[in-house]
Amino acid sequence: MTAGPAIVERPYDAAQVRRDFPILHQEINGYPLVYLDNAATTQKPECVIEAISNYYRRDNANVHRGVHTLSDRATHAFEQARKTVSRFLGSPRPEQVIWTSGTTEAINLVAHSWGRSTLRKGDRVLVSWLEHHSNIVPWQLVAAATGAEVVPIPVTDAGEIDLAALASLLDARVKLVAVNHVSNALGTVNPLADIIRLAKAAGALVLVDGAQSVAHWPVDAASLGCDFYVMSGHKLFGPTGIGVLWGRESLLEAMPPFLGGGEMIEQVSFPTTTFSGLPFKFEAGTPNIAGAIGLAAAIDYLGTLDREGAAAHEAALLARSLELAEEVEGLHRIGKPAHAAGIFSFLLEGTHPSDVGMLLDQQGIAVRTGHHCAQPLMERLGIPGTVRASFSIYNTQEDVTRLFEGIHKAKRLFA
Ligand code: PMP
Repeated sequence: MTAGPAIVERPYDAAQVRRDFPILHQEINGYPLVYLDNAATTQKPECVIEAISNYYRRDNANVHRGVHTLSDRATHAFEQARKTVSRFLGSPRPEQVIWTSGTTEAINLVAHSWGRSTLRKGDRVLVSWLEHHSNIVPWQLVAAATGAEVVPIPVTDAGEIDLAALASLLDARVKLVAVNHVSNALGTVNPLADIIRLAKAAGALVLVDGAQSVAHWPVDAASLGCDFYVMSGHKLFGPTGIGVLWGRESLLEAMPPFLGGGEMIEQVSFPTTTFSGLPFKFEAGTPNIAGAIGLAAAIDYLGTLDREGAAAHEAALLARSLELAEEVEGLHRIGKPAHAAGIFSFLLEGTHPSDVGMLLDQQGIAVRTGHHCAQPLMERLGIPGTVRASFSIYNTQEDVTRLFEGIHKAKRLFA
């Protein structure tokens, strides 16, 4: 028997992917742009820009209430977008996908709807020290209103959730554990399977902040076993102002509305008002129709890519950064999580993060500096902030080389 022709797998080609993103092809301060602020927001491929523009050129109308053709088209595209997100997150039903303006609003929705109606004095919500402010402050607001308590889950010096400490915090008082999938400040990939197993054994619900994970690998929210999964479109190559709350159906059904207004009602009268079912109960007012359509276009675009290859490519960019970092005296990587995704956070001895950031910008390199909306984590690590380079599907090894040329220059000038 002769062997068939060898299947040649095409390696992931970041340079090709880069061509799909028009913004990347420009000079900043006289240098070709190196965009390494992907954890703050990702850039948009041409097809997403087109989908939004086409919607406004051809189909714009309000959804769900018109009898005319444009309204039909807008409604169809909007609900198709929900189905696209539903498939993307492995949701059993599209009704479990609630449009929000982003991760922040999605967490606030759960905090104010589920939290205010469920939490009582003495109850506890556990959030880790790794969290973004948007997964801390909504819980503090609800705690202040209900008498519940927000208790931080310790993290190790490496920037990982301390699972033993989590286990010892879990008791009957804990009603919810809220953690991110990936830390935006350090890139730590949290061991969700363990966290969810521990929380469930203690009878607590689990909310996962997926703002930083969905752009790196496919996530099946339903099979993770969590109760809520939230994400932002703009970190997933989609537009700003659109995001998603995915929730377990029975929980969403039982939760009271968050915002009141049009779209979310069944019938309004002064004595009594009744509410729509899922998902509309949580979608008061005219939604971000173009945003939903743009997000669906981004997800469709991702579907054309080799996502495993992209994840391996991003891991290679991080690995090369860590290798080059070893050669820079006085450079300290912040956090050393065993499992990290796409983020290289560091400090350069004798320099302030914002000075390094500005010097990199002068060389056309965009990074983020500061506390990354994670002030408790900075406090825990005893630092004021970091310089953060975050990688995405279109970054190249050349970008990493340019970043380190910039770091060497900063060291020569400031350190
Ligand atoms: N959580 C994490 C982990 C994040 O990185 C961010 C954005 N930096 C947010 C929540 C908030 O996302 P948004 O501003 O899109 O609501």
